[in-house]
Amino acid sequence: TGGSLVASAESKSYDGMNVVNSHEADSKKKKVVVLGTGWAGTSFLKNLKNSAYDVQVLSPRNYFAFTPLLPSVTCGTVEARSVVEPVRRIIRKKHLDIHYCEAECFKIDAQNKKVYCRSAQDTNLKGEEEFAVDYDYLVIAVGARVNTFNTPGVEEHCHFLKEVEDAQKIRRTVMDCFERASIPTLSDEERKKALQFVIVGGGPTGVEFAAELHDFVNEDIVKLYPQVKDLVKITLLEAGGHILNMFDKRITAFAEKKFQRDGIELKTGSMVVKVSDTEISTKERSGEISSMPYGMVVWSTGIASRPLIMDFMKQIGQANRRVLATDEWLRVEGCENVYAMGDCATINQRKVMEDISAIFRKADKDNSGTLTVKEVQEVIDDICERYPQVELYLKNKQMNSIVDLLKESKGDVAKESIELDIEELKKALSEVDSQMKNLPATAQVAAQQGVYLADCFNRMEEAENNPEGPLRFRGEGRHKFRPFRYRHLGQFAPLGGEQTAAQLPGDWVSIGRSSQWLWYSVYASKQVSWRTRVLVVFDWSKRFVFGRDSSR
Ligand code: FAD
Ligand code: MG
Ligand code: MG
Ligand code: MG
Ligand code: MG
Repeated sequence: TGGSLVASAESKSYDGMNVVNSHEADSKKKKVVVLGTGWAGTSFLKNLKNSAYDVQVLSPRNYFAFTPLLPSVTCGTVEARSVVEPVRRIIRKKHLDIHYCEAECFKIDAQNKKVYCRSAQDTNLKGEEEFAVDYDYLVIAVGARVNTFNTPGVEEHCHFLKEVEDAQKIRRTVMDCFERASIPTLSDEERKKALQFVIVGGGPTGVEFAAELHDFVNEDIVKLYPQVKDLVKITLLEAGGHILNMFDKRITAFAEKKFQRDGIELKTGSMVVKVSDTEISTKERSGEISSMPYGMVVWSTGIASRPLIMDFMKQIGQANRRVLATDEWLRVEGCENVYAMGDCATINQRKVMEDISAIFRKADKDNSGTLTVKEVQEVIDDICERYPQVELYLKNKQMNSIVDLLKESKGDVAKESIELDIEELKKALSEVDSQMKNLPATAQVAAQQGVYLADCFNRMEEAENNPEGPLRFRGEGRHKFRPFRYRHLGQFAPLGGEQTAAQLPGDWVSIGRSSQWLWYSVYASKQVSWRTRVLVVFDWSKRFVFGRDSSR
């Protein structure tokens, strides 16, 4: 098709809003609307190969941002321009019918299969446009917003570290704090206040920012601001007992010790209750409330659903949930042809115990009312695929197969002669669901979901002729797509001073310089384009040679 967005005058929707119709030229094509160009959305677009779709991409930011490098942008280790890639460059390479429009979706109407959007150009460009776009398939990948837990003053006085603009603002504010502390008329008290940096949240982002700031101060700032360098204080506040609690205990312990050596103050068990324009107040575990003055606060405590998604959830009967739920095929529960992935959604994993009767019925091929080991073995692959908790449970119990589990529950019986009725099967599997975990809100999950969904779209026609059953069992009602399965490839926690902690699958933990180099190479290789890869590597090299740039 030609131009992407041609608002046709005839097609006014019921409330008089322009309906965008980009599809007149090729009405046979199914219309796919993709909301968001972050990790999930971009990964979907990059992996889409099927030319049977007319794809409209809507996102208020016309670039993809490589978020794992945002903490490096805050202190000028990497430049902001090096971690973003224009969406239009990404889709141009695809040679498919993909169009982008810089707009924010403010309402999803699943009943009429429309999304309502508002143009999102810079605010000083006057004239906001509103329009509706219809879809056959909707892919929601809008990410999440920062969670302030409604703490008073956070919105007004704290910095967030979520978008590229946030990282740039932090960089300017850090330099402002140092320049302010260097003004000759200030008292020592005021200088100290300007150089008190507070980070709220001991997750990977907060920890990495604290480490990055510490390196910046000690490697570059000391030379440029010798008169104030000793007044700098970095404080990390964490409400829980430990920082990096999603990592292995060895990494947490190493990080806590390193911070202590580096002079980064770590206050665990300390919850922020209020932020004013000059002070941040915390409540300790003892119930005591204390306040400290600050120069800058960075708030990094987790995420919550965007208003757009909350509103959509009300429409589709998910009002009582906090995160949009999908099934294992990433289809939004409660509506047709709508998919959601990444930070804006979570997979509502099925419980074995809820499906146990159906599992039993399907497995009991001879309708004898009991299952033999042979009958169980025939369906076990399908069970493990649909219910990932089964494998996890067996792994934790150090068992090789489900037969061991049945044997344990059945007692002293030879393997071949095990027979279970439904109650016995329930008993054997009763603990399995305790292993269910929501997937973390990470780029790794979002990117894998994008690849998975693109693959489903690439093979959609195939699948439509094979509707799935409620349970996928070999030989009947089987559908073409496997449910989404996450593969954890490990996780990094940069701790500053060229030290990075890496936790790889199989509980392999490595901390130090070698993992720092692994970090450099993995992050260079994960770049979306050769252009950003070159830019990032160039920035790193520049920093090694000249140090970080400290201009505002
Ligand atoms: P996002 O990447 O946030 O993308 C959302 C997209 O939707 C954006 O393009 C946005 O502009 C767009 N959008 C928003 N609202 C609308 C709307 N109303 N209409 C249309 N479009 C909209 N994960 C890791 O695995 N490893 C890391 O090292 C790591 N480091 C991180 C560091 C930082 C500083 C941050 C903030 C996150 C980090 N993450 C990391 C997490 C990771 O970035 C997220 O999990 C990931 O971005 C989620 O992808 P997403 O596509 O769901 O959302
Ligand atoms: Mg996205
Ligand atoms: Mg992103
Ligand atoms: Mg998610
Ligand atoms: Mg039987």
